[in-house]
Amino acid sequence: MRKKIIAGNWKMNKNLNEGADLVNELLEIITSSSMDVEVILGVPFTHLYMLASISDKFSVSAQNCSSQVSGAFTGEISANMIQSTGAKYVILGHSERRAYHQENNANLVKKVDLCLSHNLKVIYCCGELLSERNSGNHFETVKSQIEEALFHLNPEQISNIVIAYEPVWAIGTGVTASSDQAQEMHAYIRSIFKDKYGLNIGKYLSILYGGSCNPSNAHEIFSKEDVDGGLIGGASLNANDFSQIINAF
Ligand code: PEP
Repeated sequence: MRKKIIAGNWKMNKNLNEGADLVNELLEIITSSSMDVEVILGVPFTHLYMLASISDKFSVSAQNCSSQVSGAFTGEISANMIQSTGAKYVILGHSERRAYHQENNANLVKKVDLCLSHNLKVIYCCGELLSERNSGNHFETVKSQIEEALFHLNPEQISNIVIAYEPVWAIGTGVTASSDQAQEMHAYIRSIFKDKYGLNIGKYLSILYGGSCNPSNAHEIFSKEDVDGGLIGGASLNANDFSQIINAF
């Protein structure tokens, strides 16, 4: 049975007080909902420790981690530090990090390995640029993002990976992939995991859609067979919107 997951990605939004207010508002709403959905909040590093201990209604995720173990890397945050906050997940390979922070498949290998060796699950983001989709290279792009950063892992390690398919042209733009486009890519992603690791991994791997998902389009997207939930940016900053998305299955 595949896990349904709704993960928020707050990016660089909300100071500590604002973050606590948002979570308290959210908790009032989601405690009364039916909860067969795992809720994850991807919050700034500064919020991890405080939010990790507030409630068992959600898990907390970092949005990045260092590719180094420890040492003279001023300003970096290690997997070990993240684990010590009580966080359970790390988002890796987000397109904003690939675009603005020289994240690439090679340094992501190191980050993935460090997270897994510190018992942190990874939400691994992949997705094509608009130019890649327009030239028909979107499957190849996503395949290489996955193969190069994840396919050195063994099957047990893969069970601690969640995939987030986020077409770059849909992130923060208000333009969503159609549910058919999402389904097509999710089915393709599942097929490459099945080819590499066998049927069972393909059956259990959760694949989330991300890109301008909101309360009006979430149900349609989540109704597709291979869509197991969403990675939600802008709409995760509003408790009402986010809780409607949690309830959109
Ligand atoms: C994201 O940043 O992962 C994302 C999906 O953002 P948005 O929902 O705002 O498009």
